[in-house]
Amino acid sequence: MREPADRNWSEHEVERFLDQLTAGGHDFRRLVERLPVIVYTAELGERGRWRYVSPQVEEILGYRPEEFIRDPGLWAGILHPEDRQRALDVESEEHLGKRDTTPIEYRVHRRDGSVVWIHDEAVLEADEDGVPVWHGVLYDVSQRKQTEDELQRALSQQAVVARLGERAMQNSDPQELMAVATELIGKVDGVHSACIWELGRDGRRLNLRAGLEESVVGAGRRVSAARDSHAGAALDSGTHAIVGDWEQETRHTMPPVLRVFGAASSLAVVIDGKSRPFGVLDVHSTDPHRFSAKDVPFVQAAANVLADAIERHAADQALRYRVLHDSLTGLPNRLSFVDALGDSLSKAAVSGSPVGILFLDLDHFKLINDSLGHHAGDALLRAVAPRLRSHLRPGDIVARFGGDEFGILIDRLADEGEAVAIADRVAAAFTQPFSIDGVDHFVSASIGVAVSRAADERTVNAELLIRDADAAMYRAKEGGRARCVLFDAEMRAGAMRRLEVERELRHALDRDELALHYQPVVSLRNGEITGLEALVRWRHPERGTLDPSEFVSIAEDSGLIEPIGRWVQERACRQALEWHQLRPDSRPFDVAVNLSARQVAHRDLPATVEEIITRTGLDPVHLRLEITESVLVEESATAISSLQALNELGVRLVLDDFGTGYSSLAYLNRFPFHALKIDRSFVDALGIEQEATAIVEAIIGMARALDLEVIAEGVESEVQLSELQRLDCDYAQGHLFHAAMPEREVSRLIAEGALGYSGISPEGK
Ligand code: C2E
Ligand code: MG
Ligand code: MG
Repeated sequence: MREPADRNWSEHEVERFLDQLTAGGHDFRRLVERLPVIVYTAELGERGRWRYVSPQVEEILGYRPEEFIRDPGLWAGILHPEDRQRALDVESEEHLGKRDTTPIEYRVHRRDGSVVWIHDEAVLEADEDGVPVWHGVLYDVSQRKQTEDELQRALSQQAVVARLGERAMQNSDPQELMAVATELIGKVDGVHSACIWELGRDGRRLNLRAGLEESVVGAGRRVSAARDSHAGAALDSGTHAIVGDWEQETRHTMPPVLRVFGAASSLAVVIDGKSRPFGVLDVHSTDPHRFSAKDVPFVQAAANVLADAIERHAADQALRYRVLHDSLTGLPNRLSFVDALGDSLSKAAVSGSPVGILFLDLDHFKLINDSLGHHAGDALLRAVAPRLRSHLRPGDIVARFGGDEFGILIDRLADEGEAVAIADRVAAAFTQPFSIDGVDHFVSASIGVAVSRAADERTVNAELLIRDADAAMYRAKEGGRARCVLFDAEMRAGAMRRLEVERELRHALDRDELALHYQPVVSLRNGEITGLEALVRWRHPERGTLDPSEFVSIAEDSGLIEPIGRWVQERACRQALEWHQLRPDSRPFDVAVNLSARQVAHRDLPATVEEIITRTGLDPVHLRLEITESVLVEESATAISSLQALNELGVRLVLDDFGTGYSSLAYLNRFPFHALKIDRSFVDALGIEQEATAIVEAIIGMARALDLEVIAEGVESEVQLSELQRLDCDYAQGHLFHAAMPEREVSRLIAEGALGYSGISPEGK
């Protein structure tokens, strides 16, 4: 680079330059000096002499033209340190004579210290002396640069909000989302870090929830929720608070956490909540005056995403609470008990220490409910909950299963003995009376205890363990109530057998293992067969033909009785029709099928029966449904309306096993029965016990009065038969006539005309 001549231009020389530059005279010069740009000519080099600079320089940079002309180092001296090298690199002769020099942009400091972005567009030409001289224009592009910066910042801010929203959708855990939010916001240009303050329960403190973790060590995690903190001020205003420069801040005290990393400016916005604000999202910069009102929408948008996610999570939690708790007592419900038990059992599988549960049922709770009303019953249930709690360890779980049933989960037991000891302690909780409406009531409880054993697969299943405890509780009830019973090896063996049977029974229908046997019903007037009772059998592949006593109760407990019952009804109806046709005179038989209490309680029963009748085409008067007395004792609304509906269908209802249950003829006329069947136990004693004979006589007499047919079951001897005839009983069943027979056997007898009982002749009566 050539050293420039060491002199300033004379006025004359400047005039000449301008004339050359404009070649258009005075007007053009005025124009140049009025353009909102700086026109200059300066010799090459960091310290190249400035020959001319238009007066606008004063307005744009704060220096007068003379100052530039006097001090050749001024321009390089005010270059922004970060742009200096880039600007000086252009000071090279290689640009000489080239018309297409690329303009460059750099920052310079004005006289007042503020920063101006300059766009510098110049060509380098040698003058007459061969000195390389720049002829150029400087534009102030600060405005444009700022707009560009803002645009860039807005874009990156939008991206942050979008990403945060995306994360909020994926994960509902607020703590994690808050950590993500502070991390993402911390990466935005100009932001040093972000943090989240949560409003404490008392509403007086804001507690740090996310962000700044590392800096917090030693510094406080709390700030005031009042106006003396900037975050508190944001809360107070309901919108936001900006601290332009912490060094000059007078309204708010700086939280110690911010001091740790030297925050210079901060912006806090409110994270809203449903009933009250959740807290504050706070962003910080190490540059003063970094934040302005322009940044509020971004930070607020992020805060809104957080507020939504926190709200959604709270709603989820509330819903979950309702799903998992009993509303009356506030205790966990069965669902959450099963959940917790499942967890405990998996942990126990690792630790090896057994888990115990107590199944507790209040004794005679129905009595309290019926005599004192539901309100008193509810009050008792509410009082039981804390009583149970107070006799247990803090970690034990008390749940209400429903009704008057409670479950207690005891983790980490030493052995079964400990579980029983705890059960005894719980039982002792009932020695004190419960005060209901100011009156003391003594209530006892029956408790079943079951303990898991690592070696026994059955007991590590939550539902099965509960079933065990339930079974033990029933034993306690049977044993006279107000006691604890441990589910023991014998009960376990029984339970395992039942489970095995249930599993096999599930396939019995598909594998066509069920069959019906039929027992004829004999008219005691003429020995004629008037009907057949269908009795289900299970042709077990290994155990041979099984009687109902071996599987019906299991079918009832497991619900399998529903499909089995449907199968029995349909099969019996079809068989009856076939036999009608087989009879020489085509006289119809009545066919009777048995129904369990569970079937009667099922609201679909009438519809199912109607469907079967329609499908098979059997006249409903020939179908008899036998129901045991115990169904009526319950007097459930569904059962009563079902019986009514069945009666309207035209099928006949028979009360089975009469005399074993409630034995009250008085309430019989409340139900639409057609016949009643005297239980075998009375028939057995006929002619032997005077009393039994008297009872049968009374039953038959009252049945007459109620216009019910009477059937005696289990007739095995001639003595019993003649007694029944003497007492004017209508029909009988029993081994004396026929035992229950397979279908084929009945068909054969009908075909041969041999179905009947010759021991009774019409005249014999
Ligand atoms: P139930 O309805 O009282 O049936 C009478 C039971 O007494 C039958 O036993 C029958 O074989 C038996 N029995 C008949 N005559 C005599 C006799 O002279 N002496 C003696 N010792 N016993 C006699 P089964 O077939 O074992 O049925 C037992 C119970 O199982 C039935 O009692 C009925 O309540 C139930 N049951 C049978 N089939 C079904 C069915 O398809 N569905 C439902 N839900 N229950 C059924
Ligand atoms: Mg029966
Ligand atoms: Mg019976």
